[in-house]
Amino acid sequence: RHLFICGGTGCHATGSLKVKAALHEEIEKHGLEDTVRIVETGCNGFCALGPLMVVHPDNVFYQKMTRDDVAEIVSEHLVNNNPIERLMYKDPQSKKRVPLFSDIPFFALQKPWTLRNKGIINPESIEDYIGREGYIGLTKALLEMQPSEIIDEMKASGIRGRGGAGFPTGMKWSFAAQNDSDMKYVLCNADEGDPGAFMDRSILEADPHAVLEGMTIAARAINATEGYIYCRSEYPLAIKRVQIAIDQAREMGLLGENILGTDFSFDIFIYQGAGAFVCGEETALMRSIEGKRGMPIPRPPFPAAQGLWKKPTILNNVETLANVAQIMVNGGKWYSSVGTENSKGTKVFALSGDVNNIGLVEVPMGTSLRSIVYDIGGGIPKKRKLKAVQLGGPSGGCIPEKYMDVVVDYEEIAKVGAIMGSGGVIVMDDKTCMVDMARFFLEFIQEESCGKCTPCREGTRRQLEILERICEGHGKPEDIALIEELSGMITSSALCGLGQTASNPVLSVLRHFRDEFEAHIYEKK
Ligand code: SF4
Repeated sequence: RHLFICGGTGCHATGSLKVKAALHEEIEKHGLEDTVRIVETGCNGFCALGPLMVVHPDNVFYQKMTRDDVAEIVSEHLVNNNPIERLMYKDPQSKKRVPLFSDIPFFALQKPWTLRNKGIINPESIEDYIGREGYIGLTKALLEMQPSEIIDEMKASGIRGRGGAGFPTGMKWSFAAQNDSDMKYVLCNADEGDPGAFMDRSILEADPHAVLEGMTIAARAINATEGYIYCRSEYPLAIKRVQIAIDQAREMGLLGENILGTDFSFDIFIYQGAGAFVCGEETALMRSIEGKRGMPIPRPPFPAAQGLWKKPTILNNVETLANVAQIMVNGGKWYSSVGTENSKGTKVFALSGDVNNIGLVEVPMGTSLRSIVYDIGGGIPKKRKLKAVQLGGPSGGCIPEKYMDVVVDYEEIAKVGAIMGSGGVIVMDDKTCMVDMARFFLEFIQEESCGKCTPCREGTRRQLEILERICEGHGKPEDIALIEELSGMITSSALCGLGQTASNPVLSVLRHFRDEFEAHIYEKK
């Protein structure tokens, strides 16, 4: 038997390490060491129910475990083959226990391609990763494919950048490949800073080799020799596991000089960011690695021509890179077989807020938001009604309940006034004040503005002052027009994406919930 105990940051915080220690003790006590293997995995995904564990091959899922449950699990389940019902998942809709892991709607309705190894492998074991087709994509890319063929496969997959902008990845790589240089770089953006987003952290914690393999394939495609993973220092577990993975890959000849005995050499280093949101912007991120203050600079030149240390560079998000090896193994056509016309493959979301099943979700592009919130998310707690969903974090917008049938697709989501973003989905029920929600995101952006350009630095400050007085019941009739005027100025004159999208949350609330603004101003609600 395998006991897959979740060892993501969320489950660590709720005590999974204590449960794991108790499991070791009990298994030893019962002399089961030869027949039971405890595997500490990365994030299992169902974060709301931690500490959690899946028993294989029995297909049993245990939730909210404590140390005190362990003796009973070992004696009753592992020795007497009687799984413990009270620790099984209870469906919030039917109120019934769901005995089998694979029957739980939260898992059954997902398509784990990017997250294919989550909850199954020990992220600190390269052998576990290799046992799940790990490094086959790299082997194929290095020994059987020309760099141009790698790029063609990426183009055929149709994958677009999962960091939010949605630029076609294969095309991005082809630009960098065309530029000759003595040095080129591959960067991984792991500076996940959106409130409510934890997709990249979970991927790095659960499957770090997938990201390293993706970066190495990218390096081969553009002929780069050095790579950096820019990871925020608030992610210590992710950093630890990535460093272990780097060391293991180097030791096995999968990173460093003459990879797999070829003449191709590439190495990866971790650069820890200090938590500035603006460092997720590509030019600011590169300046930060260069040791300068993390501030955006104008483009062009684009990074594919002059990026890190003015050398051709590609920057991809964690989720994008985690898909690359599978695209090499199965082909671009396989990847593009899922999704909509212009948005291919799957998308990982961090589902949080007023929803029953908080956690990590991966669905095919084309899935409706309603299905994510109700079928996978289990609906809204306490029988309240759904009011809206915030998609795309502080750069995105809110989508009201009436548009919940919109599907996950870059263009379709833009039509209802939001953006796909990196994947944070914050669900809000009918008691949420949307004006206050807009104020929250604006406050975040205002604090994170690097201050380089006046419209962003001062404009967001003025907008925030207005929103604060509206929230406090001192709004003036001209305030809405003032916010809109400032939004136009900031959007059109800000240097980087942070400023250009700073007004999105407040504008989307004005678009969909203008009556709430007016009620605050005129009825002092
Ligand atoms: Fe800095 Fe804002 Fe200007 Fe971006 S738009 S460079 S965050 S001041």
